[in-house]
Amino acid sequence: MSALRKTIRDRLGRIYANTTPAWAYNPTMLAIRNGLLLALPLVMAGSIALLLNNLPVPAYQQAMESLFGPGWRTFGATVWNGTFGVLALLMLYSISQHLTLHHNQQHPLEPISPIITALVSFACLVIITPAADGAGLAAKWTGAGGLFVSIVTALLATRLFLALARSRFLHFSLYAEGADSAIPQAFSCLAPGIATIFVFAFIRLFFDAFTGSSVHQALHDLILYPFSLFQDALGTSAAYVLICQLLWFVGIHGANVLDPVTHQFYELASQENLAALAVGLPMPHTITKLFLDVFVYMGGAGSSLCLLAALLIASRNNGSRKLAQISLLPGVFNINELLLFGLPVILNPVFLIPFILVPLVLACSSYLVIYLGIVPGPSIIVDWTTPPIISGYIATGSMLGSLLQCFNLVLGTAIYIPFVRLSDRIKANRLKTAMSGLMEVACGNTVSLSGKKCLDREDEIGTLARALASDLQTALRTGVGLCLEYQPQINHITGRVIGAEALVRWRHPAYGPIPAPVMVAVSEDGDFIGPLGEWVLNEACAERRRWHDKGLDDAFEISVNVSVLQLDDVMLPRKIDACLKKHDLPPYMLGIEVTESVALAPDTIHNQTLHAIHRLGIGVSIDDFGMGHSSLLYLKHFPVSTLKIDKVLSKDVENDHTCAEIITTIVDLCHTLHVDIVVEFIENQEQITLLRELGCHIFQGYFFSKPLPGEQLLDYANRTNAQADAASAWALPHAT
Ligand code: C2E
Ligand code: MG
Ligand code: MG
Repeated sequence: MSALRKTIRDRLGRIYANTTPAWAYNPTMLAIRNGLLLALPLVMAGSIALLLNNLPVPAYQQAMESLFGPGWRTFGATVWNGTFGVLALLMLYSISQHLTLHHNQQHPLEPISPIITALVSFACLVIITPAADGAGLAAKWTGAGGLFVSIVTALLATRLFLALARSRFLHFSLYAEGADSAIPQAFSCLAPGIATIFVFAFIRLFFDAFTGSSVHQALHDLILYPFSLFQDALGTSAAYVLICQLLWFVGIHGANVLDPVTHQFYELASQENLAALAVGLPMPHTITKLFLDVFVYMGGAGSSLCLLAALLIASRNNGSRKLAQISLLPGVFNINELLLFGLPVILNPVFLIPFILVPLVLACSSYLVIYLGIVPGPSIIVDWTTPPIISGYIATGSMLGSLLQCFNLVLGTAIYIPFVRLSDRIKANRLKTAMSGLMEVACGNTVSLSGKKCLDREDEIGTLARALASDLQTALRTGVGLCLEYQPQINHITGRVIGAEALVRWRHPAYGPIPAPVMVAVSEDGDFIGPLGEWVLNEACAERRRWHDKGLDDAFEISVNVSVLQLDDVMLPRKIDACLKKHDLPPYMLGIEVTESVALAPDTIHNQTLHAIHRLGIGVSIDDFGMGHSSLLYLKHFPVSTLKIDKVLSKDVENDHTCAEIITTIVDLCHTLHVDIVVEFIENQEQITLLRELGCHIFQGYFFSKPLPGEQLLDYANRTNAQADAASAWALPHAT
């Protein structure tokens, strides 16, 4: 049985994982989703304003009135006017912008200003929007009521404008004089802009002349039409819930778009119920707006309070749990935008089924219980921001109302839980794939036209890289999650630990440990390898100081990796010097290892910086010698004191004769030039035996020790050195 369950789960997981990219990454879908996503601060500001004005706590309402007077709601109302009141315009703007940015990515040589596109779309929307009593836009259509038309207009006007702007016939070029690129841009958009606006003016005229109503009214009627097909209340409600959820799912604020339906059917039903009650008659409707708000949409669309609970109970994904914690407070007051966009539920096929199923099931279970007379129907109006459990009690005047809400919460949560688990598994797999892709990119040498390895990629690797770059900058500011580990280097002749390499480590709060090459690649791409390097240098020097204070011998060198890009900074030698002084360390206790992502060139600033560092008395090693760009000419041009032989040569040395030959050549040359050699990636005794025969004797690798935290490294060094000293004392000729 459990094997069957596992198979089904695996199959579902695979299907979901494979279907996502095909349609969820469609530019139109993404534009709609991101349109609302980018307007999230405004949506949240509007929601908070609503909550402030309608918090269902009488003591709060009285306190506000006594503090700020009877007009205390003006603040919230003005915020609402500037956000939800113009939601249709905001959506239009952000969808147009998003589509244009996508167009510009596809056609980098013919970019179009997103501002011009948004302005043209705005003009088109204003043209087709009916006026309010002959003056200004009708407020009815600028807010949630006009959302659907604004989305359609944004898509059509933007696509039309972009298509016309790319057409050669409408192109009107004007060469830029000086550096002002705005003039040719505006001129090249002249004809397409006029044409797009005129098309929408014709649409307006057409509607005025032939339908006698506006585009808005026509679409409004179209939305209402399917609902008129259902004769029974349950069928209408099921269609309402289904369509509302589907709209939400593609990123359209379902409740807002269906506002006309809500008003037409469910608000009127609520009012008819109240009127019947007032004259002592039984309530004619079971399903009303109140019914939906109280028993179905607990937490908002998708009965998202159940999703919140499921995440808190079942999710093992740090990011999802954190999001659930942040969304809990607004969620209790039925504001769920943070959760829906943050998870993200929108366009996420994993949540499609429960997102539709839970409200449908809850609507049916509540209808049944009320129809059978087990729980009284809701009859007292409660504000939609009233938290569930309380709202059930107030609306029905009975504890049974709260009990039904509890039952619904448990039922909805139980339906969501398997999908939350599935989502966790898919997220983990995707992260694993993206991380290994990013690791490959980070370790490779391929860069884009703009010279970046990963940050400007458009795939999931790029998305992950950008998220990591931003989080790493935060980690650098706070120091949270960052630390160094140290890998010992052993002189095999004396058996002593002669130094240690400092290696940066970062435990991301959501993704766990991030490989060092990935950190380096994103910070090189993001131009903050300098601050990362300075953080590492400071930590390493502080650790070396602690080791010194605990008696580690002076000859022990701590080596710090320095990216070639850090050598662009002419101030680097001074910064290193200042760091040594800050921790009161002599320069010979520090070494740097130049790790190459780009080739070192002799006649560049890199070489000057390296010489300045060398003059401070600090040892310079060339890291990963044998791979990438490194060449023996480095020994001629750069002030090199050590070469670190890379794994490509050392790993297979006992099986690959060519590797052994190359190492012999390097050893000969280095002996002549008095350059030390450290061999990395020592994992077994056979490697050591052969490398000793080839003339190498300083080793680093898992055979001796993995990188260790500072304290443990000190213990390791003390223990190993004590054993080496004891062994050499034993080997000395004994006095007779
Ligand atoms: P690297 O400087 O060549 O460091 C050696 C890497 O090989 C380390 O990986 C170490 O853990 C790993 N290693 C050492 N011995 C063995 C072994 O025997 N077997 C295996 N499988 N691995 C071994 P790590 O820490 O992941 O670092 C990878 C690279 O990231 C480093 O290569 C270095 O290029 C870069 N890096 C690490 N820390 C820093 C830093 O603070 N700054 C800069 N710029 N680069 C750094
Ligand atoms: Mg290194
Ligand atoms: Mg190395």
